[in-house]
Amino acid sequence: MTLTGEMLIGAACVRGAHGSQRAFNPGTNAEIAEPCFGFGGGAEVERAAALAAAAFDPYRALPLRRRAAFLEAIADNILALGDSLLERAQAETGLPLARLAGERGRTVGQLRLFADVVRDGHFLHATIDTAQPRRQPAARADLRLTKMPLGPVAVFGASNFPLAFSVAGGDTASALAAGAPVIVKAHSAHLGTSEMVGRAIQQAVRDQDLPEGVFSLLIGAGRTLGETLVAHPAVKAVGFTGSRQGGLALVAIANRRPEPIPVYAEMSSINPLFLLPAALARRADSLGQGFVDSLTMGAGQFCTNPGLVLAIDGPDLQRFVQAAGEALAKKGAQTMLTSGIHSAFGSGREKIAATPGVQQVARGLAAGDQPNAAQAVLFVTDGQTLLKSADLDSEVFGPASLIVRVRDMDELLAVAEHLEGQLTATLQLDDGDHALARRLLPVLERKAGRILANGFPTGVEVSHAMVHGGPFPATSNAMFTSVGAAAIDRFLRPVCYQDLPDALLPEALQQRNPLDLWRMTDGVPDRK
Ligand code: NAP
Repeated sequence: MTLTGEMLIGAACVRGAHGSQRAFNPGTNAEIAEPCFGFGGGAEVERAAALAAAAFDPYRALPLRRRAAFLEAIADNILALGDSLLERAQAETGLPLARLAGERGRTVGQLRLFADVVRDGHFLHATIDTAQPRRQPAARADLRLTKMPLGPVAVFGASNFPLAFSVAGGDTASALAAGAPVIVKAHSAHLGTSEMVGRAIQQAVRDQDLPEGVFSLLIGAGRTLGETLVAHPAVKAVGFTGSRQGGLALVAIANRRPEPIPVYAEMSSINPLFLLPAALARRADSLGQGFVDSLTMGAGQFCTNPGLVLAIDGPDLQRFVQAAGEALAKKGAQTMLTSGIHSAFGSGREKIAATPGVQQVARGLAAGDQPNAAQAVLFVTDGQTLLKSADLDSEVFGPASLIVRVRDMDELLAVAEHLEGQLTATLQLDDGDHALARRLLPVLERKAGRILANGFPTGVEVSHAMVHGGPFPATSNAMFTSVGAAAIDRFLRPVCYQDLPDALLPEALQQRNPLDLWRMTDGVPDRK
């Protein structure tokens, strides 16, 4: 595919005239010559929003099987791009080809999962309370609930998942599955990858004969074009993955609108790892190695990266620290996604190193002359230092982590209580640790969206039971997940029909159940 640097606005390809940018290769520290991407302005936002608003009713009215077929067509078109997609993504992100191939599999699998979710229809939560005309003292009306999409959704892709959380990633797939048109603001860190995937979606819209406004891809700076998009009255929800600062900026814009809208921002998490005493006594060495592998995977550029380790001080923790330090010292430096992320990592790392009461345990291999490469680092401190510090528990995006030695279980609980909201919390535990785990779990349930035992937090399954969310600042809305089948719920709202004639009801609620759905009827699940 020849890239043009154009935006995709409905069926049109549009050259932006409000500035321009070439993609950047973090591995070579040089611009990628072709193409030059043109930035859009207010007129392009207006056009994409108008098309999305016009597409909303016809798109959501399509039979569910056609919506599912559309999602599958996007998946097929992405695969048809072949290795050129992976090669472009590698050039723009520095991520290894094997990792990107895995990520493409996840992206395609995610689209297909949502196709299944749509066909199954369970996401509509069809619920019927039959009329009780003779009920005393007052009759009950016939009440029927289903879910409908909120309206057009603006998506801000993530830099660290150029495929699985970008143009055709989890936010887009779940919004399209919900029946919502999508307008993506391309991430400036992978513009060519965005155009390739955007064209795959545009082609699917055309081939499936859908209203053109179902999908648009805009290019421009977050602070100008992105803000205009979120403020546009036709946009009814936002999906975002990135920095706390960026996510909060979008939440503020959404709340200032005459009609505030939900922003589902996934922002910042340090994913604490709790090493409980019996597990530590039995497995200190292997835990040290496993932790370092998780910490350094993908240059630590995962929202689920383990940035904090907590354990009661003693010889077993010493063995863990030593094993982790030795493992980390052998890890090579890895190219980070952008020079901005690389320099933010450097400052975050130096800030921790300069904090009184913090010692460095080990550093990974130096970057040498490899540009934008992160040298991994591991620190250690004590519970009191963490409790008194203002920001030792803030996210440093990259391969850096802090081990916290606590005095006893009470201090462990105090530190857990001190933490902000998290995407994950992990317990390394053996049978002898259950009593301590029972004390910790109520705190962790309040803090985290996912609680793991005897694993490491990096690696998020895309499935029905997954929760990739959590209390602030992990996300801006702890009620939802951004990964897995339940991510569709973010873009739906309930509607109740009271005494509507059967012929006027959505198919999901009609008496003869033409979609063959499982429905709740008078509080009981059935498929009648
Ligand atoms: P980012 O700076 O938050 O940018 C993400 C997207 O939001 C980009 O498209 C950006 O547009 C846009 N944006 C940022 N600020 C905005 C604003 N004020 N108004 C409107 N749009 C805005 O994130 P990033 O570039 O991907 O990475 C930077 C940092 O984010 C990392 O160092 C890391 O701390 C964090 N991060 C966290 C996660 C996670 O999963 N927790 C993932 C990735 C990154 P522009 O590019 O045009 O500015």
